[in-house]
Amino acid sequence: MATKRDYYEILGVSKDASEDEIKKKYRKLAMEYHPDRNDSPDAEEKFKEISEAYAVLSDTEKRSTYDKFGHSGFDNRYSTEDIFRGADFSDFGDIFGDIFGNIFGGGFGGNSRRRGPQRGGDLQYDIRISFADAYAGKTVSIDVPKIITCDTCSGSGAKPGTSPKTCPECRGSGVVAKTMRTPFGNMISQSSCPVCGGTGQKIETPCPKCSGKGKTKETKKISVTIPPGSDNGMRIRYPGEGNSGDVGAPAGDLYVVIRVDQDNYFTREGDNVYTNIHVNFVQAALGADVTVKTMGGDVTMTIPEGTQTGSTFRLKGKGFPRVNSKSVGDQFVTVNLEIPKKLSKEQRELLEQYAKISGLPATSGSKGKGKKDKGFFGKVKDALDSD
Ligand SMILES: [Zn+2]
Ligand SMILES: [Zn+2]
Repeated sequence: MATKRDYYEILGVSKDASEDEIKKKYRKLAMEYHPDRNDSPDAEEKFKEISEAYAVLSDTEKRSTYDKFGHSGFDNRYSTEDIFRGADFSDFGDIFGDIFGNIFGGGFGGNSRRRGPQRGGDLQYDIRISFADAYAGKTVSIDVPKIITCDTCSGSGAKPGTSPKTCPECRGSGVVAKTMRTPFGNMISQSSCPVCGGTGQKIETPCPKCSGKGKTKETKKISVTIPPGSDNGMRIRYPGEGNSGDVGAPAGDLYVVIRVDQDNYFTREGDNVYTNIHVNFVQAALGADVTVKTMGGDVTMTIPEGTQTGSTFRLKGKGFPRVNSKSVGDQFVTVNLEIPKKLSKEQRELLEQYAKISGLPATSGSKGKGKKDKGFFGKVKDALDSD
């Protein structure tokens, strides 16, 4: 086998050339060496060479294989057909027409088949709702910009009273065949009819509203029902509410994606919600009924005597309802103890008495003086607490 030139060298680009650079360079060389444009005897060979280099370097996987193994390793892995299979020359249609479309059975390049009626595209609409609305559910009206079938021509693209004619170029087939000179010899290539764009029909008097496109842009109001318990990221599908399809093909779907704002008080995980409450140390020690905010309103929760700071209690059924289900999550309430920052003389005495009865170690208060030098850390803590 003759020694092959380096692909980068062939295109005249550096090893770290960007995709864009490679594309630009190839375009320039292809224009220069295309056999239909260049009469020199080695043009075809040259064209073949640059096309091969481009097919490899424009494909991330092939390029990295080539970078790793060079020609020898590369040729063991890929046949000539493999090299061109999957390569995308569709950006060079103006240079080649659709010649690449059928070289290897239409495996790459532009789509040269007559296309049938296309289904309309799907649309996505993001909707932002509050935490409370996610809990209770809500109905909102949204304005969805979309492409719809032109109501003047019913999608035919032809002015009312006229109708599209069979395309004279392709006689309605949507494809034309031509003989092309290619790097691989002469070949018959089928391509999309340039006159009708593959539809097989030609519109002589275009519809004035859509200029012959058969479609128009419009904003449609849609009422969206957000079910109770909706969560962030949930999608609601509205079949047929996406863009209209071609005549005879269905419309796409609309997906409404729900974005839920966070809440300052409640944290949600699945169907459960998490909250914190503050109780004073007497309530915690003796037990108490406390009022707790839930998504459904205030409830009374009993904390038992001897509750420790950081303990979590469950309020069954006070979480979020599960969408399309009867089940409901729970609320978890974590108790934080509040220690008074200032005590009156009487309170202080009672606590000291309590400490004495309980045989607790002496407190700073029990040493007699009211105000104490708190030391460095005490002052720092005071500073942190005072805002
Ligand atoms: Zn129209
Ligand atoms: Zn045609």
